[in-house]
Formats: sequence, C-alpha cells, structure tokens
Amino acid sequence: RVEAVAALSVGVPLLHSAVFLAPIGLILLLPDQASLDGLFALFAFETVIYVVGTAFIVVVMAKERVAMVHKTAAMTDLLTGLFNRRAFLEAADRIMAQRSRKSQPISVLLFDLDRFKSINDRFGHAVGDDALKVFAQTAIANLRANDVIGRLGGEEFAAILPGNSADAGMIAERLRAAFQAAGVEISGHQIGATVSVGICTVVAPAEIDAMLACADAALYRAKNNGRNRIEAASGEAEPAADIPAAADTAPAIGDAALALQ
Ligand code: GH3
Ligand code: MG
Ligand code: MG
Repeated sequence: RVEAVAALSVGVPLLHSAVFLAPIGLILLLPDQASLDGLFALFAFETVIYVVGTAFIVVVMAKERVAMVHKTAAMTDLLTGLFNRRAFLEAADRIMAQRSRKSQPISVLLFDLDRFKSINDRFGHAVGDDALKVFAQTAIANLRANDVIGRLGGEEFAAILPGNSADAGMIAERLRAAFQAAGVEISGHQIGATVSVGICTVVAPAEIDAMLACADAALYRAKNNGRNRIEAASGEAEPAADIPAAADTAPAIGDAALALQ
C-alpha cells in the first residue's frame, strides 16, 4: 500500500504536467487540427482528477505517518530510547535469519548493571534512571552499525551481534570499559556504576530464547566471579570448530578486564 501511494504521488503530478504540456506538442506537430475546445474539456477533466488525487494522496500519507509514529512508539523503551524487549526479539529474529542462510556465527550479549538496587537506594530512583540512560548511550556509541541492542527490562539489556566469539568478546570488553569510565560520575554523583556481561555465540541457526538462556548462565558466572566482567558461555550452544570456542576466549577477556582495573 505504501508503494501504491508512492506511485500515485509521482504519477498524478506527472499526468498533470503531461496534459498541460500536451498543447505545445500538438500545436507544433499538427498546427491545423489542434482544437481549443477539445483541449479545454481535457484540461477541465484532468484538473478535477489532479485536485481530487492530490487531496487523496495527502490524506493517505498523513495516515501512514501516524501509523509509523505509533509503530515506533510501540517498539521503543521510553526511558532509554532503545528497542524494547519485543522489538529487540523481532530484530534478533531478522539477524538470525540472515546469518542462517550462510551458517555464520552470531552472538548474544546479556548485560546487567551491577548492584543497581544499591544505586537506587543510595542516590534515588531518578539517578538510577540516569545511570540506565548513560548505559544506553554508551552502548550505542560502542556497538557497530549492524549490532542491535534493546532493553529487556529493569537494568537488563541484550545485544545481538553478527560475529563470532572473538568479535563479541572485543565489543563486550569495549562497552564494559566505556561504561565503567562513564559510570564513575553520573548526574554529579560519584556512583562507580559498572556492568556485567554474559556472552553466547553459536553458528546460526539457533533459537534466540536458547541463546538468551545460555548468555544468562554466563552472566550469572560473571556476577559470581566479582562483577564488572565478561563471561562467555560454554555447553550446548558451543560454536563450530572453525570458530574460536567461546569458552577458550572467555577467561582471557575476563583476565584482561581485571588487568585493566
Ligand atoms: P546485581 O549486581 O546482582 O545485578 O544486583 P542488582 O542490585 O543490580 O540486582 P537486583 O535485580 O536485585 O536489582 C535490580 C534493581 O533495579 C531493582 C529495581 O528496583 C531496579 N530497577 C528496575 N527497573 C528500574 C528503572 O526503570 N529505574 C530504576 N531507577 N531502577 C529500576
Ligand atoms: Mg537484574
Ligand atoms: Mg543488576
């Protein structure tokens, strides 16, 4: 339907121009036979079509616009402006379908802000909200163009990356470090906010839910191993042999993260 309106919005003005420019051609080609009366009737008829057609197009375009605004609102998390859970899962399905065609690796990153309840308790809910916004901005700045991030709920975020466990580890570490830096001071308070990350890499296709569960298990380990760190999953969702196994790279990333502190 959008295509039909787009075609009309070009076609109607084109028809209008053609009819109104036609006399030039007619008079040049057939100077004797060009009848003014006939042309006048044609002009009047075409002008009616033009006016009605234009009004119709404007109304339909306005409706499309409203529909688009509603759709965007339904997909967006109000606080952070990121995709909400549903929109994230839809985007993840699309990326999974793309990656599945050539059996390429795909990674899910699960983020959970550290000791977030205590941030709320010490500085208030509004400052907690600011920390969530800072995390969202830091994530957008540190992810790549084809990565997708969403807020799953509360202080939990997920990203889906077309890439293997080495890519995912690199991006996760970049974002972890950037948030540690951005989280030192938020809204004038010395907060020291940090984030823990669980990574799950597989060779597509796989179920997004299963990947989230395996990233969650890794995240749980990141929390247990001291927070502000990255862990990658091992187990059912192990990537194929030609891709560096997530379990091999995970401790290295974790060590690097610790070494940086
Ligand atoms: P951990 O390091 O183990 O993740 O500890 P945590 O305190 O971050 O974890 P927990 O799940 O106990 O606390 C999450 C808190 O996040 C509890 C809830 O009040 C708070 N929270 C959830 N949504 C929002 C929000 O939109 N804004 C704010 N300010 N706080 C929120
Ligand atoms: Mg949580
Ligand atoms: Mg938390």
